Amino acid sequence: VELDPVDPGRMALLVEQLGRFGANAHGGVDRPVYSPAWRDAQDFVAETMAGVGLSVSRDQAGNVFGRLEGRSSDSVVLTGSHIDSVVDGGRYDGALGVLSGVAALETLVATGVAPSRPVEVVSLCEEEGSRFPGASYFGSRAILGLVGEEELTGLRDADGVTIEDAAREAGPDLRRLGECRRSDISCFVELHIEQGRRLQDAGAQIGVVQTIAGLKWLRVVVRGRTDHAGATRMEHRSDALQGAAEMVSAVDAAVRSRGGVSVATVGQLRVLPGAPNIVPGQVEFVVDFRDTTQQSVDALEADIRAACSSVAEGRGLEAELEVLRATPPLELDQRMRQTISAATAAVGVTTLDVDSGAGHDSQTIGRHVPTGMIFVPSRDGRSHSPAEYTSPQECAVGASVLAMTLWQLAWED
Ligand SMILES: [Zn+2]
Repeated sequence: VELDPVDPGRMALLVEQLGRFGANAHGGVDRPVYSPAWRDAQDFVAETMAGVGLSVSRDQAGNVFGRLEGRSSDSVVLTGSHIDSVVDGGRYDGALGVLSGVAALETLVATGVAPSRPVEVVSLCEEEGSRFPGASYFGSRAILGLVGEEELTGLRDADGVTIEDAAREAGPDLRRLGECRRSDISCFVELHIEQGRRLQDAGAQIGVVQTIAGLKWLRVVVRGRTDHAGATRMEHRSDALQGAAEMVSAVDAAVRSRGGVSVATVGQLRVLPGAPNIVPGQVEFVVDFRDTTQQSVDALEADIRAACSSVAEGRGLEAELEVLRATPPLELDQRMRQTISAATAAVGVTTLDVDSGAGHDSQTIGRHVPTGMIFVPSRDGRSHSPAEYTSPQECAVGASVLAMTLWQLAWED
């Protein structure tokens, strides 16, 4: 089949329109889940879906679906991504996957041929967990029935508002979350910006994602002793922050020496008691580390633990290490990867097989239904920043590949 290519101008307009919701002064977006900006953005997505001929529905998590009926009521081919953002995020992370799904279906509707099975595009409510730490993948977990009852009152934002109350303010009733559960999804395909720079460096138009990296968060609590900053001589101190600083460097060195795709980050540090004139008695930090096989993740953890313990020992400090969070790596479905590759060949674009260092809804959904991911280039690899950019042409190529993928999954299959 020859599908009409998606128009770059159409993609640029959609990105611009959705980017208005939660737009901030730096050219980025602040769209935390269940905020007024988030609600308006979901309303815009719903209107846009209806405008291209899809029937719109919403569930009680706040996910928005646009559906194209098939000739049979067989299980659904699902595409989409998320519209919530991190603080001061970009206009493409998540949003582009939703908009590409809508644009791809617009192209497919224009063929005038009904799919053999239903196709839906979903705008997932909460992927980042930026307003409610711990709520990551909330929308996709709701669809899979994986949200725990305790999360509704246990998850709170910085102002102490529970996720249940925040949702009610925006519309969804989380007490009816059980109704979100879907058992009629046959497969899922998500288009996303790469958030790295391998496609740009290789000059490839599309990345066919093979594996999504696994992640662990290791919390390190370093205990020393508080002392007077003026009266305590250097040799008599047990400074927790000096130890923590050395640990942070040692972790970085250990991970760099492994090479490959291993990464580790310390992005937050809590210093207690936290005054300029007191030698710090306690420091807490979290090491976020990722790799593409469970074996490498575990080896990385061993290296990080050894690096921290060795510093603690050398300085006579106490270090307590605890895993806060662990997501195993996920190899995406082989048949879905082949389908995406075939679609790129049909559209005639250059590709690269890549892994995703970032986590995605696909990582959650992919454990339950066959899942594939399509990456489009991110300029200079920038993401989670207002500097995120993918050109209208690159967006259009991505949406065209997504359209061809959906054609193969729902029309030809
Ligand atoms: Zn994302």
